Amino acid sequence: MTKTALITGITGQDGYYLSHLLLNHGYRVVGLVPPHREPNLAKLGPLANLVEIYTVDLRDSVALLTAVEQLRPQEIYNLAAPSFVPDSWNDPLGTLDLITGTATRILEAIRQVGLSTRFYQASSSEMFGDVFCSPQDENTPFRPKNPYAAAKLHAHWTMVHHRQRYGLFACSGILYNHESPLRSPQFVTRKVSLAAASIKLGLADTLEMGNLDAKRDWGFAGDYVEAMWLMLQIDEPEEYVIGTGKLHSVRDLVSTAFECVELDWQRYVVINTNLLRPDEHFQLVANPSKAKTNLGWETQVSFEEILEKMVQADLERLQSGAIAPATNSQRVSIQHNNANQ
Ligand code: NAP
Repeated sequence: MTKTALITGITGQDGYYLSHLLLNHGYRVVGLVPPHREPNLAKLGPLANLVEIYTVDLRDSVALLTAVEQLRPQEIYNLAAPSFVPDSWNDPLGTLDLITGTATRILEAIRQVGLSTRFYQASSSEMFGDVFCSPQDENTPFRPKNPYAAAKLHAHWTMVHHRQRYGLFACSGILYNHESPLRSPQFVTRKVSLAAASIKLGLADTLEMGNLDAKRDWGFAGDYVEAMWLMLQIDEPEEYVIGTGKLHSVRDLVSTAFECVELDWQRYVVINTNLLRPDEHFQLVANPSKAKTNLGWETQVSFEEILEKMVQADLERLQSGAIAPATNSQRVSIQHNNANQ
């Protein structure tokens, strides 16, 4: 029997890689897309012809219930979110409604329709927030520091409550930063890959950065969607911390990206003291042991390979005129301890 999977946030980075993975596993893939965001389906490229799109307002409980009733999915992946954390300060209520509201509405739809649909919630390492120990695992307390993280935590607990009270197969991945050529240019990895490619092609001459000593746990999006899928294939629904367990500094990020285009980063990087952040005592870094043991999950793509993919993709896009070169005026995020950025 062909399995049906519904995905919210199908037009995002993870939506793309997850659709690809599910199609390869023979699923019927249906994206739940709000009417006003349909123009963004172009981001799926040729994949748009291989998935189905169901137009639905994610704020409409009845419409979501109807979608679940009609499509009768075996699996639902709830990925939709305004994922650029600083934006959540501009619209805390909208952030809460989309992130927590959508999770709650879908869980309620599954419960009310009475299906055995398996549900995945896209939780975030941002929920750990103001960390006081490293690395973090599934037992580390949550101390969210911004509206995005608070909304993700509320959605996370709602998922746990629906599992405990109603016996739904509901689980979540507490994912650390994961990147790919599809990462939005608002994020620091993409800012750096785009700058390295732009400078290589003579389309830009400097890259403005803040604290080069800040460290992150960066993985590859393609590996992380595999973890999402694996969580829904085992017998027990649980929470899983998903990250590489390895830290790299922003300096590593810059030097590796510039190495991809055979340039010496120190000739091009300018430190903007306005972008400097206070040093972090404890680092946000995963202990993915539980995922390794229970899911058999391992990262496949190294930090260097991620950057190689990203820089190559940006070189090709710039050469074809598909995107504009880097500028220094973009707001970027290194996603963590940047609460007021
Ligand atoms: P992304 O590339 O920013 O994609 C976000 C998706 O959510 C897009 O499909 C976007 O639609 C949709 N969306 C945003 N605002 C919306 C709104 N108001 N109404 C309906 N849909 C909306 O994010 P991602 O990297 O794929 O991340 C997937 C999920 O994992 C998100 O929930 C994110 O918070 C979470 N997460 C990501 C990371 C990471 O490092 N990537 C880490 C931890 C957790 P449009 O295309 O129309 O904008």
